[in-house]
Amino acid sequence: CGVFGVTGVADAANFVALGLHALQHRGQEAGGIVSHDAEHGFNSARRFGYVRDNFTKASLMETLPGPLAIGHVRYSTSGAKGHTQIRDVQPFFGEFSMGGAAIAHNGNITNAEALRSELIGGGSIFQSSSDSECIIHLMARSLQRRVPDRMQDALRRVEGAFSIVAMTRTKLIGVRDPLGVRPLVLGRIGDGWVLSSETCALDIVGAEFIREVEPGEMVVIENGEISSHTPFARQRPRFCIFEHVYFSRPDSILGGRSVYETRRQIGVELAREAPVEADLVCPVPDSGTPAAIGFSQESGIPYAMGIVRNQYMGRTFIEPTEQIRNMGVRLKLNVNRALIRGKRVVLVDDSVVRGTTSIKIREMVLDAGAAEVHFRIASPPTSWPCFYGVDTPEREKLLAANMTQEQMRDHLGVDSLRFISLDGLYRATGEAEGRDSAQPQYCDACFSGDYPVIPHDR
Ligand code: 5GP
Ligand code: SF4
Ligand code: MG
Repeated sequence: CGVFGVTGVADAANFVALGLHALQHRGQEAGGIVSHDAEHGFNSARRFGYVRDNFTKASLMETLPGPLAIGHVRYSTSGAKGHTQIRDVQPFFGEFSMGGAAIAHNGNITNAEALRSELIGGGSIFQSSSDSECIIHLMARSLQRRVPDRMQDALRRVEGAFSIVAMTRTKLIGVRDPLGVRPLVLGRIGDGWVLSSETCALDIVGAEFIREVEPGEMVVIENGEISSHTPFARQRPRFCIFEHVYFSRPDSILGGRSVYETRRQIGVELAREAPVEADLVCPVPDSGTPAAIGFSQESGIPYAMGIVRNQYMGRTFIEPTEQIRNMGVRLKLNVNRALIRGKRVVLVDDSVVRGTTSIKIREMVLDAGAAEVHFRIASPPTSWPCFYGVDTPEREKLLAANMTQEQMRDHLGVDSLRFISLDGLYRATGEAEGRDSAQPQYCDACFSGDYPVIPHDR
């Protein structure tokens, strides 16, 4: 999911709409905005579909006045998967004794089921099936007076991954879990402030990137002033390494590093680890593009657009049901036949999860007359599900959990299949020594099975 908030500008909701549009790659099922102004109080709008199809209409934006607003784009990782209901669309809003608050959450709470039954047992009335709603109820029950204190109380009970943008009548609040699994950045716009999942959404509104919200940090912005708090016990951060590989946009900066540059470097590492004789290097667009560029640069094999993407389709990853995902590949990608015929082709993609995409692409490329097909994958084999906000399927459906690499190659029907090593991936993110196995620098559980937080709910 993607979260965005702004304070201290006229018609803040318009900025949020722009920011969410730039974060659309993080969730395409639905989006929502909550705003506040002194005259009208809190207002909210939650809609299915793309930001640009909803939050550009003057008639809707007029209902979201005020200098303070937050928003969310959704991709379901908890709650009723595959058939998002409007009640699961964020931000969630609640009124309690000290006014009220709205929150937008990216991540996944790993003890949500236990919290939920405890809260329902105690009389809380849930509106949604989302794990994120627990936070609002925990806040409502806190005995603290001020909303930021209530929020700290609530979040100390929550396990898992959370990057949160929240608001009260007067405050904009940003928090990251102690491991800092999901990104969250802080920016300035004139006298106002912005919180965003990624820096690419600061760019779109013309905000200046100030810094990341630190893992375990809560920032509270009120009357143009920012204060920083550290409500949690200190832990060594474990940022999601898959944000570097796939999830974030290549024009964003993560941990001081260009996502594009990391992905290009993954391609360089791959070309060193798994060289192959071939005529063309082609990305599986768009997620494989920067790595393919790096592979081509390092290997000297010419880069070409052997597969062309229809720009009017979303991310297959984000399509929640298997049926739609299967169709999605063909609707989204097509082979550039004239280019491929008779060629030995290296195809570079970001990941193999179920193998659906790879099989369809191999079919298309061989059908177009390719002489050989070699897959090079910009992440290690995905062998474990993610419990922290990326929708990987259960283990039975993960190709790499059930097959050796040679079995996978055979299953995909390609001439060769190689994945980047975990150390190679770490090096590409700037960790010159690779992965520190005693204290890994990132969360890489979907590749290693080393879960930084025990996933109670599964
Ligand atoms: P597959 O088709 O192997 O299930 O998915 C791999 C391809 O689709 C990659 O190109 C990746 O960009 C995207 N993808 C599809 N579904 C998922 C998913 O659930 N998790 C991840 N990590 N990537 C996915
Ligand atoms: Fe990221 Fe994988 Fe960890 Fe999930 S399990 S947070 S996708 S590295
Ligand atoms: Mg892809």
